[in-house]
Amino acid sequence: MNWCIYYRGSLSSCNYTCAYCPFAKTRNTRAQLARDRSQLRRFCAWTRAQSNRIRVLFTPWGEALGHGYYRRALVELSQQANIDRVAIQTNLSAPLDDLQEASSRLSLWATYHPGQTSQARFLGQCARLEEMNLSYCVGVVGLKEHFPEISRLRQELPAQRYLWVNAYKRETGYYSAQDIHFLKSIDAYFAYNLHRYPSFNSACRAGESSFAVDGDGNLRRCHFVGQVLANIYEPDFESQLGPRSCPNASCGCYIGYVQRPQLRLEKIFGDGLLERVPTSFSWSG
Ligand code: SF4
Ligand code: SF4
Repeated sequence: MNWCIYYRGSLSSCNYTCAYCPFAKTRNTRAQLARDRSQLRRFCAWTRAQSNRIRVLFTPWGEALGHGYYRRALVELSQQANIDRVAIQTNLSAPLDDLQEASSRLSLWATYHPGQTSQARFLGQCARLEEMNLSYCVGVVGLKEHFPEISRLRQELPAQRYLWVNAYKRETGYYSAQDIHFLKSIDAYFAYNLHRYPSFNSACRAGESSFAVDGDGNLRRCHFVGQVLANIYEPDFESQLGPRSCPNASCGCYIGYVQRPQLRLEKIFGDGLLERVPTSFSWSG
């Protein structure tokens, strides 16, 4: 079976301070970063020892690409025979030159955060990815005060690059019909992200072919269900993988709901499902 792995080590720091950030805003000490680095090294060594084909998305609880040890790991994983895709969620503020040696199996999930950097600088980083011929998607959180910036970003990005919008779901009824119309004109697949899906007892690939791994190797279905099913560093962990239904009432985040077979999002994203890159895309305005 092919595996889709969401890895989140113990890193918990970021160079940005987004008000809507769902993650802990902490500063990591040198000792904490050393621990994160050694966890990452162990995880990468584990992937090398597996006979399964693997796709891995790094979903750090902060910004990881700014650390050289993550950039090196991404390059090495992209060159590894049993890795079909390696991707990372990033604010794209880090220097990118280290990624030049990566294979085409590397993909970046880049999020633009208005107010934390200039749009010109962010677009400059996207242009660098174009020069390097690296796969990437771009996204934003759909806050209403950012609509003008979102519109400009869409105009400026190459038409073949997908710009996704994550719906702001913390306030019920946040969007008017006109807002939704605007956001759909930016992101043709925005409607998929607009809702939380009732998921209790329904089928999900999480815990079977897809799973989340933390820095200590604990394996969970996904990032949204706390129950530890196994530890990847123990010999029989695979015996704990199998068909399961969701224990949560709902699922509302892309990195969760794409694993729900009912949505059939493979039709849109194909091999780019994990890293949110549609099979073919062209924005026509
Ligand atoms: S860039 Fe991401 S991790 Fe950093 S503060 Fe913003 S939302 Fe949080
Ligand atoms: S439906 Fe969502 S929350 Fe439930 S197991 Fe799947 S990914 Fe996790």
